[in-house]
Amino acid sequence: MLKVDEINVYYGNIQALKGVSLEINQGEIVTLIGANGAGKSTLLKAISGLLKPKQGEIMYLNQSIAGKPAQTIVKQGISHVPEGRRVFANMTVEENLELGAFLRNDKDGIRQDFEKVYELFPRLLERRKQLSGTLSGGEQQMLAMGRALMARPRLLLLDEPSMGLSPLLVKTIFRIIEEINETGTTILLVEQNANMALSIADRAYVIETGRVVLSGTADELNASDQVRMAYLGGH
Ligand code: ATP
Repeated sequence: MLKVDEINVYYGNIQALKGVSLEINQGEIVTLIGANGAGKSTLLKAISGLLKPKQGEIMYLNQSIAGKPAQTIVKQGISHVPEGRRVFANMTVEENLELGAFLRNDKDGIRQDFEKVYELFPRLLERRKQLSGTLSGGEQQMLAMGRALMARPRLLLLDEPSMGLSPLLVKTIFRIIEEINETGTTILLVEQNANMALSIADRAYVIETGRVVLSGTADELNASDQVRMAYLGGH
């Protein structure tokens, strides 16, 4: 479905991604694991069109999307939930969700997706008239995910959805990620919480200082000494 091929991404003179390649097959949950500053968010931004790779190629459903405008990429079916949520604080929950569908004009489909999002996140239904800035951190994460789903993506990019949430809420969010995947959405998940991420992922890539240093099935990485020592608090 998605093939990232040897991309280099820079911030000014600083090279944040160095020849990164990765593949995602339809229906998978793939996770990116790596320390702070390794380049995980940068990779998601390059895929969703927020950053333009200087070299390399990104193919999505056999079309090149590298360097295309973010709106075009959303229209083609890739939604990005950025780190830190970024909901529109002065708008209600419902208005934020509406915005997620702003590139669509299939009214019936949009109505169906509102129902689906409220089914996945009953909390958002209860709070649909509430200003988003007054939601708890967990509720804002749900809203950011719900808003991304309103674009009806085929591929959902999630950047650290568990950040700052209580262990119970982290479990809830991960269960919902699995549910979203089961309804046919492919997922690329960036996580610091490698244990949780590997527990739901099919495959994983480990990124260190802008390079993919290891990849494999979730089971393989769970069993790898290198991964256990560095990322799973392991012995
Ligand atoms: P984190 O989990 O801390 O977000 P990350 O793996 O997502 O880490 P990135 O945010 O992709 O890491 O950052 C990769 C590198 O690029 C880091 O060295 C970071 O300092 C640098 N970087 C990120 N954003 C910018 C920016 N806007 N300008 C300059 N350098 C940046």
